[in-house]
Amino acid sequence: MGIPESIIPLCAALILGCSKNDGLNDIQYKVTQRGGTERAFSGQYWDEKSDGDYVCVCCANPLFSSDTKYESGTGWPSYWQPIADGAVTLHSDRKLFRTRTEVRCGQCDAHLGHVFDDGPQPSGKRYCMNSAALSLIKR
Ligand SMILES: [Zn+2]
Repeated sequence: MGIPESIIPLCAALILGCSKNDGLNDIQYKVTQRGGTERAFSGQYWDEKSDGDYVCVCCANPLFSSDTKYESGTGWPSYWQPIADGAVTLHSDRKLFRTRTEVRCGQCDAHLGHVFDDGPQPSGKRYCMNSAALSLIKR
């Protein structure tokens, strides 16, 4: 899937998920392990335009391609489609009065963000991600 061998996953234990001891900083830990959300326009990638693959910051699982990234105006990196089937998993999230669909890493279960139905064609989906959950491997 084109991940350079130089990319070493931060986590030693992929299945068990990340801990701070695995090298995550505060915001990466809060987002991926506690389901937090970074402040809009605060992350590293909302305005990123480089070509490449966005991988999970915890386990380096490929998640999204820059080919499907678009400017949603929300202040979070947004994509209309994951890079492959099974790259992410979807979960019902009832935290905030209404049901949202949570997006997690398909490999290590890290929280990534949410998916909404107001995205562009062809999918109509908006995968609203946290920069802190992603790592961009530039082409
Ligand atoms: Zn992962």
